[in-house]
Amino acid sequence: MANLSACPVSKKCGGCQLQNMDYTRQLRYKQSVAVKYLSKYCRVEPIIGMDCPEHYRNKVQAAFGRTRSGMIISGVYQSGTHNIVRVDNCMIEDKKADEIIVSIRNMLPGFRMYPYDEDRRTGFLRHVLVKRGFATGEIMVVIVGAVNIFASKNNFVKALLKKHPEITTIVFNVNPADTNLVLGERESVLYGRGYIEDELCGCRFRISPRSFYQINPVQTKVLYDKAMELARLDGTQMVIDAYCGIGTIGLIASKKAGSVLGVELNRDAVNDARENAALNGADNIRFICADAGDFMQEAAGTEHTDVVFMDPPRAGSTQKFLSSLIKLSPDRVVYISCNPETLARDLYFLTGHSKYRVKKIQPVDMFPHTKHIETVCLLTLDK
Ligand code: SAH
Repeated sequence: MANLSACPVSKKCGGCQLQNMDYTRQLRYKQSVAVKYLSKYCRVEPIIGMDCPEHYRNKVQAAFGRTRSGMIISGVYQSGTHNIVRVDNCMIEDKKADEIIVSIRNMLPGFRMYPYDEDRRTGFLRHVLVKRGFATGEIMVVIVGAVNIFASKNNFVKALLKKHPEITTIVFNVNPADTNLVLGERESVLYGRGYIEDELCGCRFRISPRSFYQINPVQTKVLYDKAMELARLDGTQMVIDAYCGIGTIGLIASKKAGSVLGVELNRDAVNDARENAALNGADNIRFICADAGDFMQEAAGTEHTDVVFMDPPRAGSTQKFLSSLIKLSPDRVVYISCNPETLARDLYFLTGHSKYRVKKIQPVDMFPHTKHIETVCLLTLDK
C-alpha cells in the first residue's frame, strides 16, 4: 500500500502528517484513536479506507514566489511561515490540477507576469486555485492577483486554454490585502460560467471560487451513503440538517424525506445551498441562516422533527444545541464529526442528559496521509 515517505518535501510542507506510515498502518492508527475516544459509547466499526488513497484532492491551491536566486516557484507555505516550498506534483492532489499550475508557472515570464512579493509589495500573481468536478470533469482555474490590473489577460487566457482545453472556466480574483486568506472580495469571470458543477450521490452542486465543497468526493460519497443508511428515511420524515454548509447532506436527504430544514451560519454557504436546491428541483427543502444552537432552541418549542443530521466544525457542537436537541427528541440523530475528541465530549453530554444511546460508530478515512479522522455516528432514543 502507498507510502508517501518518498515525498521530497513532506517535512517542510507538513500537510501529510502520517506520511511515514504505509496506508494500512495509517488506518490502524486512526482506528485506535477512534477507539480510544469513542469505544465507551459503542463498538467502533472498522474504518473505511480508500482503495487508491492518492490524488484524491479535488481542490488545489498554490502560492507563487521566487527563490533567492530569482527563480519563479509555486507550491505551499512551509508550515507556520510564508516561505514557499516548491511543489510540482503532490501525491494527494489532483494530477490535472498540478499540471495546470506548473503550466501557468512556465507561462509567466512570456507574459511578463511576476509573482507578488509580500515584503516589497511588487509583482502580481499571488495564488492559483484549481477545482475539478471529479464526476463532471469540469475544471475551474482562479488566478489571484495582488492588483486589479491584469494587462495581458486576453492573451494569457487564450494561451492557457490552448495548452489545457479541458479547463471549463477561468476567474480573476483580486486580493490586495495583507492577509493569510487566498481569495479577495473582487472577482471577474475571464472565461466560461465562473463556476463548475459536480455530482454527488445523485445530486448536482454548484461550486464557485469561494464556496465550500468536500475535498475528497470519493470518500464523501461513502460517508454520506452511510449517513443516509443510518437515517432510515422513508419519504415521510421531517428532517433537520444542522451546520449544513452548501446543503449537501440535506439535499441528498430531501429525495427520501417529507421535508428538510437546513441551518447554517455562513451567509454565502446558505446562498449556495438555495441555488443548489433550485438546481436539483428540490421543493421540500428550506435553508435558514442562523446559529445552529439558536435555531434548535426555537425549533425545540415548535417543530416536530424525526431525524437530525448534524455536522459541526472541529470545535464540535454546543450545550445550547445539544440540550435543545434533547427537547426536540427526534427518533434518530446522525452526527458527522471531523474530530473524535469533541464528538466524545458531545456524546458524553447527550448520553448523560437523556435517553439517547449511541447505536453505531463508523469512521471513514476522508483525508488519507493526514492525521484527520472523520466519523459518522447514530444515536436513537432508548424507550
Ligand atoms: N455539512 C456540510 C458542511 C459541514 S462543515 C457538508 O458536509 O458539506 C461545518 C459547517 O458549520 C460550516 O459550513 C460552518 O460555516 C458551519 N457553522 C459553524 N458554526 C456554526 C454555527 N454556530 N451555527 C451554524 N452553522 C455553523
